[in-house]
Amino acid sequence: MIDLRSDTVTRPSSAMLAAMVQCEVGDDVFEEDPTVKKLEHKIASLFGKEDALFFPSGVMCNQVAIKCHTQPMDEIICDALSHIYNSENGGWALHSGVSIRLLQGDRGRFTAEDVLQHINPNTDWQPNTSLVCIENTVNKGGGSIWKFDEIKKIAALTKERKLKLHLDGARLFNALTETNQTPLDYGHCFDSISICFSKGLGAPMGSALVGDSEFIKRARKWRKAMGGGMRQIGFMANACIYALDHTIEKLKDDHQRAKLLGDALVRTSFCKKLYPVETNIVLFEVHDNPNTIIEQLKQEQILVVPFGGNTIRMVTHLDFDDEQLQKVEEVLKRL
Ligand SMILES: *Cc1c(COP(=O)(O)O)cnc(C)c1O
Repeated sequence: MIDLRSDTVTRPSSAMLAAMVQCEVGDDVFEEDPTVKKLEHKIASLFGKEDALFFPSGVMCNQVAIKCHTQPMDEIICDALSHIYNSENGGWALHSGVSIRLLQGDRGRFTAEDVLQHINPNTDWQPNTSLVCIENTVNKGGGSIWKFDEIKKIAALTKERKLKLHLDGARLFNALTETNQTPLDYGHCFDSISICFSKGLGAPMGSALVGDSEFIKRARKWRKAMGGGMRQIGFMANACIYALDHTIEKLKDDHQRAKLLGDALVRTSFCKKLYPVETNIVLFEVHDNPNTIIEQLKQEQILVVPFGGNTIRMVTHLDFDDEQLQKVEEVLKRL
């Protein structure tokens, strides 16, 4: 099977597995796992932040960040396409007791002006706007990348209005691969950033949250309350360290293959509209029922996912190589 459903389907390489078994571990709830400490230190310094915390999942990172940045009855601002709104079971309402204001951005990217228009005035009856969340790249935007200038404007605005700014950077390294910014530039703008190691970076699990020490100290308590305290988890942390050291540089190959998939799709008769391919996500609309195409591709051993309406998603990743790309191109030519 050629699996293009998600960049989460990768298996750890033998080199990553070797790194996983060759590390020192301890009980991380007691803060005694040196490999977890090493990862947290590495990712915090990469972003120029005081501290970092290792999490089992990206959803838990986002949810703990929202919890730490807000009070019940507050309101948070997100794009209507955001993962936080669409794919986390409304955890913001459950864990944090906040409401959400959805902005209609351009493939998930809004402007400072949009934010300004939706900060509630300080009345006795409107929820207090306290947090803005940005996602980069935007999954439901087809891997769209934010313009850093707009992020800087939003950061200036949130600072001025004393709001917190969180980045869901599940695929931030995909964005960084295609732009001139560094992790430090992002660390400078955001109060907190979550990073996934289990997407394009190819680790079996794990995410990290970075921020200042006081924020991470509270995040540690909330991670425990949500059941995310882990024991000898250094084995997994070392897979993430391996990913940071060896996989980031391979993301550009994923992006190149995604572009070629896009080129092949526009030449088919079933593709009605291809979204711009900016990173490793390929979104396209079809004329007829998407399930027909999905089924035909499955007959050819190619897995893709329906993505709402007439849209289908393909995602390139570490385990999708040139040989598989050729096979998919050949099938698309025939369909
Ligand atoms: C995958 C993803 C997450 C986190 O998902 P987990 O499966 O919990 O790691 C968060 N945000 C975005 C944009 C994602 O794609």
